[in-house]
This record gives sequence, C-alpha cells and structure tokens, in this order.
Amino acid sequence: MNRNFYLMERIIAELPFKAKEKHAENTKFFAKLKKKPPKNLDYVMTELHEKEFKRTDCLTCANCCKTTGPLFTNTDIERIAKHFRLKPQKFIETYLQLDEENDYVLQELPCTFLGTDNYCSIYDVRPKACKEFPHTNRKKFQQISHLTLKNVAICPAAFTIVEEMKKRVMI
Ligand code: SF4
Ligand code: SF4
Repeated sequence: MNRNFYLMERIIAELPFKAKEKHAENTKFFAKLKKKPPKNLDYVMTELHEKEFKRTDCLTCANCCKTTGPLFTNTDIERIAKHFRLKPQKFIETYLQLDEENDYVLQELPCTFLGTDNYCSIYDVRPKACKEFPHTNRKKFQQISHLTLKNVAICPAAFTIVEEMKKRVMI
C-alpha cells in the first residue's frame, strides 16, 4: 500500500469524529441556509465541488462504496441487469434487498461490485446515486441538508466542501 492510501485511511478513520465535532454547527448552518438560501448558491456549490474533486482521488478512498451503498431505481436495475444479461428479477434476487423505506439497496457492504483495487466493476452502468454521490453539486443544495449531515462523516470531500461552504456562504 502506498503513502497516499495510508494517508487516506487515516483521514477516513478520523472523519466520523471530526463530523461529530462539527455536527451542531453544521445543523445550525443548514437550518439558516434553508430559510434564506443565497441566490448564487448553485454557482458556489458547483465551484466548491469541482475544486475539491480535482484534488480528491476517489480511487484511494472508495469509502462510500465500502460503507454505504446506493439506492437502486427501477431504471438502474433494468440497465445493470441488462449489462449482466439477467432478468431484472434475477438481478434483484441475487444482489438486492428492500430496506425499511421499501427502496432497493445492496444485500451486502462493501458493495459487491467494488474491486480490491477500488475500481467499480460496473462503472459505466453504475446506479445514478453512485454517479451523483456526495451530491455536493446538486442544485438547491439546501434541500438535501439531512443527507449532507450524514455524508460529511463518510466522504472526506463532502466534509471539506461543507467546511469551505461555511466560509464562502454568508447567511
Ligand atoms: S465520493 Fe467521497 S467517499 Fe466516495 S470515494 Fe470519493 S471521496 Fe471517497
Ligand atoms: S456500484 Fe460501483 S460506484 Fe456504486 S457503490 Fe458499488 S462499487 Fe461503488
């Protein structure tokens, strides 16, 4: 394992503690943001997201794929099942289960499709939720604050983006 992997391992191990420390501050910030989102919020979030992901190497991390799986929509299931030449029902039986909210999620974590090299074996057909994670460039970002409060404990990039956002967005 090279130095970058060790460094990332340490960052990931510390992340839940750092997120816990920031939780009250972040909750307060997002509550204010929801009430009065600035007009340029989408623009600022795109900028912060792009800047952070230019310097983040997801292949040294893959913490999202290891600790929290995506939701699979019907369109995701049809596309991925087709990739495996399986009937959607067979794909569901083999890989998925329903969660308490009746959404299809993975049967096990880390994700079955994650390789030991952190590459996704179904990258081109991966679920929409994987493509969009951690949703930090999402329009009307204030509407997914409940999700972001959880994601900052999982995703080092999301943590940094939120910290930068608190400096940039005056509310
Ligand atoms: S999206 Fe976040 S948690 Fe997932 S691999 Fe990239 S940095 Fe890690
Ligand atoms: S499908 Fe691919 S991107 Fe999505 S969680 Fe699994 S390994 Fe990660």
